[in-house]
Amino acid sequence: MDFRLSEEQQRFRQEVSDFLKGEIKQGLWEPSCDAWIMGHDPEFTQRVAKKGWIGLTWPKECGGQGRSYVDRLILTEEMLRYGAPAACHWFADRQIGGAIVHYGTDQQKKELLPMILKGEAYVGLGMSEPDAGSDLASLKTKAAEDGDSYIIDGQKTWTSGGSNMNWIYLVARTDPDAPKHRGISEFFFRTDLPGVSVAPIHDITGGVHFNEVFFENVRIPKTSLIGEKNKGFYQILNQLDYERSGMERLMANYPLFEAVINYVKETKRKGKPLAQDPLVRSKLAQLKVEFEIGRLHMYRVAMVMDEGRAPNWESSMSKAYGTAFEQHLAGAAIEIAGLYGQLSPESKRVPMHGMAYHSYLSSKGYSLQAGTSEVLKNILALRKLELPNE
Ligand SMILES: Cc1cc2nc3c(=O)[nH]c(=O)nc-3n(C[C@H](O)[C@H](O)[C@H](O)COP(=O)(O)OP(=O)(O)OC[C@H]3O[C@@H](n4cnc5c(N)ncnc54)[C@H](O)[C@@H]3O)c2cc1C
Repeated sequence: MDFRLSEEQQRFRQEVSDFLKGEIKQGLWEPSCDAWIMGHDPEFTQRVAKKGWIGLTWPKECGGQGRSYVDRLILTEEMLRYGAPAACHWFADRQIGGAIVHYGTDQQKKELLPMILKGEAYVGLGMSEPDAGSDLASLKTKAAEDGDSYIIDGQKTWTSGGSNMNWIYLVARTDPDAPKHRGISEFFFRTDLPGVSVAPIHDITGGVHFNEVFFENVRIPKTSLIGEKNKGFYQILNQLDYERSGMERLMANYPLFEAVINYVKETKRKGKPLAQDPLVRSKLAQLKVEFEIGRLHMYRVAMVMDEGRAPNWESSMSKAYGTAFEQHLAGAAIEIAGLYGQLSPESKRVPMHGMAYHSYLSSKGYSLQAGTSEVLKNILALRKLELPNE
């Protein structure tokens, strides 16, 4: 077993890291937690696109670079390490582009992929509904055929980036009479069509990053269907592996990890640096152990993908583990900061640039989004431990 990256991969990591450090030095943005999902910065995305870092793993004939999933993991690991504002392209690059490469028609590949590669598609993921989350197959949003069109009616919720999106990936029911998993299809279309409306949802931090999205008699061309009609649910399963398996499930709060280490070095309590407190040292060392295990999980998933296998139980395990680490990190940072940890980012006495406060609150959602930890453990029990179905 050899855990080392190739020299080319090490050079690539250095290149990405130098690029991001250069951007920070120029004051183009500041590192922040959750920037992969909340950092909407179209200009940053354009610069990343110019580097050719969107669609890295797609085949060359689709405009990608045919590189490995480990290479992509290196790229995303660096983006997350520096808290780069990559939200504009993250979903399109991570999963929707891949779905089009896999299931799209030649025409869709020709029309849609270049737009994603140029960093011009800010995609929202329209899956969850008020009564369909873990059990996605109970979704009610309808797509009814009408000549050359589908007419969409219904509602999505918790759509991350919904207020900034210009395209949506939507799952809708195309056969109301079929068993619930068999009558669902996938669509991808612009959100500036008549009948689409977006309403913000304020999350636990007070910010708005996810939204409700309503569809009232929205006419989309039939060419918006991705893959086979009524096979959408089975196509999605493959996409969910991509959604769950990335480094963002371990490193969304990485800037906080660095901030808490600096904080204990710089802060004295009762005349002694916090870094000399055995309990603080033990907490941070434990987090480092968990972080390194989490990284190995993530690299294993990428290697499985490079072997052309679906990382089904592996991505469930890595996501459940990674998001638990994120919650431990946020909890430890709040405890170490004491009462100051609870101050909001606007307060002048707030430590760690308010990252502990933000992460403590927002990390509660990490074990819900993209599959709850309970559901992921069910997948592991079934697929890896081969326990009987519930
Ligand atoms: C920050 C954040 C961002 C999100 N972004 C998006 C997005 O961009 N697009 C989108 O479509 N959705 C998004 N979601 C929604 C997310 O996918 C759902 O919250 C998730 O699928 C769970 O669904 P639910 O909230 O309806 O909870 P439910 O499915 O109702 O679950 C409620 C509780 O019951 C448990 N449970 C449910 N079924 C089982 C079972 N079979 N066995 C054991 N326990 C079970 C769950 O673990 C959970 O604790 C986001 C959510 C969050 C928190």
